[in-house]
Amino acid sequence: MMELKIQLVPTGEIILPPGKNGESYCNCCAKVVGSDGVRAMMESALTARDRVGVQDFVLLENHTSEVAFIDNLRKRFKENLIYTYIGSVLVSVNPYKDLEIYTKQHMERYRGVNFYEVSPHIYAVSDNAYRSMRTERRDQCILISGESGAGKTEASKKVLQYYAVTCPASEQVQTVKDRLLQSNPVLEAFGNAKTLRNDNSSRFGKYMDIQFDFKGAPVGGHILNYLLEKSRVVHQSHGERNFHIFYQLIEGGEEDLLRRLGLERNAQQYQYLVKGNCPKVSSINDRNDWKVVIKALSVIGFNDDEVEELLNIIASVLHLGNIQYGSEDGGNAYITVDIQIKYLARLLGVDSSILKEALTHKKIIAKGEELMSPLNQEQASSARDALSKAIYGRTFTWLVNKINASLSFKEDFFSSKSTSVIGLLDIYGFEVFQNNSFEQFCINYCNEKLQQLFIELTLKSEQDEYEAEGITWEPVQYFNNKIICDLVEEKFKGIISILDEECLRPGDATDLTFLEKLEGTLGGHAHFLTHKLADGKTRKVMGRDEFRLLHYAGEVNYNVNGFLDKNNDLLFRNLKEVMCMSENKILNQCFDREELTDKKRPETTATQFKNSLAKLMEILMSKEPSYVRCIKPNDAKQSGRFDDVLIRHQVKYLGLMENLRVRRAGFAYRRRYEIFLQRYKSLCPDTWPNWDGRLIDGVSTLVRHLGYKPEEYKLGRTKIFIRFPKTLFATEDALEVR
Ligand code: ADP
Ligand code: MG
Repeated sequence: MMELKIQLVPTGEIILPPGKNGESYCNCCAKVVGSDGVRAMMESALTARDRVGVQDFVLLENHTSEVAFIDNLRKRFKENLIYTYIGSVLVSVNPYKDLEIYTKQHMERYRGVNFYEVSPHIYAVSDNAYRSMRTERRDQCILISGESGAGKTEASKKVLQYYAVTCPASEQVQTVKDRLLQSNPVLEAFGNAKTLRNDNSSRFGKYMDIQFDFKGAPVGGHILNYLLEKSRVVHQSHGERNFHIFYQLIEGGEEDLLRRLGLERNAQQYQYLVKGNCPKVSSINDRNDWKVVIKALSVIGFNDDEVEELLNIIASVLHLGNIQYGSEDGGNAYITVDIQIKYLARLLGVDSSILKEALTHKKIIAKGEELMSPLNQEQASSARDALSKAIYGRTFTWLVNKINASLSFKEDFFSSKSTSVIGLLDIYGFEVFQNNSFEQFCINYCNEKLQQLFIELTLKSEQDEYEAEGITWEPVQYFNNKIICDLVEEKFKGIISILDEECLRPGDATDLTFLEKLEGTLGGHAHFLTHKLADGKTRKVMGRDEFRLLHYAGEVNYNVNGFLDKNNDLLFRNLKEVMCMSENKILNQCFDREELTDKKRPETTATQFKNSLAKLMEILMSKEPSYVRCIKPNDAKQSGRFDDVLIRHQVKYLGLMENLRVRRAGFAYRRRYEIFLQRYKSLCPDTWPNWDGRLIDGVSTLVRHLGYKPEEYKLGRTKIFIRFPKTLFATEDALEVR
């Protein structure tokens, strides 16, 4: 009789008001249920609320209590309800297991349905953004944030799948959909790696535009990538791996292919793959993934030659890592085994003797003359590593460009000229490790920027809505983290400026002189500290080579070791020259001869990153945002484990309580008149079964009948705004006990 999966449908979202003949409908399957069924559903509904909590935090009775917030999250998590709203923001907790909530039927259930009428889901957010784009003709973006392993990448894939399945498609559109979907395994193979936090951690930031034509069909896409963690190519911490593609090639590559590349089917043979002492990961099947990636490359439009050239590059990085140096009596470096150079030169498509010289010498220009100055063993090793990082990093950028070319919207293919866009941001979350370096500094700075955007946009859109509806409200105080963004990015006296200055300074600049400069300029700043500046207690937990930033999300100590090198990201000129000679077509595009004649100093890594983030902020500001805030339930990557301490920390720094406060400080709930009336009209004889007059008058009659006090609500142009959740709660209860 009753087909309801009640545990999936929290209180208040279960039954529709009685139909004309007193029958009721199940909200899940729309089947008519009899009066027994209704009673049973109501009982279940009441226990359901206790068990599964509320589906929107705004409805929490005790909304200022973090304990109540986390209780609600826990209740829902235990019932496999991983999604909860704060108004229109979706909070998602990683279940670490496959849930049956991503089927085609689920997609259908969310298609074209109002946000609040169904249980919270990433599909609801996707659908809402899609419909807003269609009806309001406004570009959208979905911003997914959370720390490493919280489920951002998975969420972004769900969004993409939702559009791929539910949007209209012609044959040409199908090709675009396939390519959009297949870009994921390729980028993940080259840009993701196993870390301590996540077996499939994205080591680059990604912003993807999906372009739709006037019929709402996806007709193109474009990806912007941010700061790939190149250092991983040459070094991995214990328990971590290099990028997936290396292992996929070694495990999955056919015998023939490996022979051609001079590779053995044994990751242990390669210096770049043994640093983390973690060649195999139980959750990863490199061999299968290899097949998926090769197939995806062909869907994206790679021909056999291009695949071959791409793999030559991957193999050459492995060979490069195996080049070992000895030290001659005079201290000059020499290469111990020549055979690698031969392989390398062939795979890179360069002359082997020139390559060999470039790997042991540095070209200097003195008095207008070019001289080859020999490197010592240590210098040669770092030159080799710099080359590996440059090759890999530039190949990754090439790959993104290639994917973009295959996704580019071709007007003549499609009838429409105008397109609307939904942007999808999946970027690294806040990171705090035992030892934090330049990479964490950049990543956390990026998160400061996103947090700032979040605060501005959530507050701004809230205020905009009140204005549009003609409602007055008092603004809420919130912590503005602009002060920390300025600390990092301000001209002349921000950390990046000071770092660049040290990088440019000829002579004796080192990581430690950089630290001293920071101290000199920023000493006394409320969010900056060093060993020297700290009080006795803090000094104990800070190294002399560290500085501390008080981020919005917490304190992080950064070790300055390597900051100058990583920011400079230098590749010796003669290594660049060799690469410019490459006959490998991909490398040829990656290493442009113009670079050699360009006298201008290239931008430093941090400045490049700063500029690309500024552009990203502009892009995001121009679109209407939806937010997905991802939470990681435990550090063990296990299902069913809800670690309170870890979660409380994330709730804090994601600013969820603040978000809730802002949402509630104005009006906790808002509903369009027609939806409100439809839902509650059965509670008032004047509005039941139908209200014929203006909607606003109907709602006004209804709420007066329900005893709403004037201070409890306001009527806007198209919506009713309800100040306290308990008002709506009471109305929901009335619906249940009626
Ligand atoms: P992030 O991108 O935030 O670092 P991921 O999206 O890569 O994290 O998620 C890490 C892992 O957690 C995934 O590989 C997957 O095993 C699991 N996971 C994340 N989201 C879900 C989900 N919605 N359902 C099931 N498993 C998930
Ligand atoms: Mg990710």
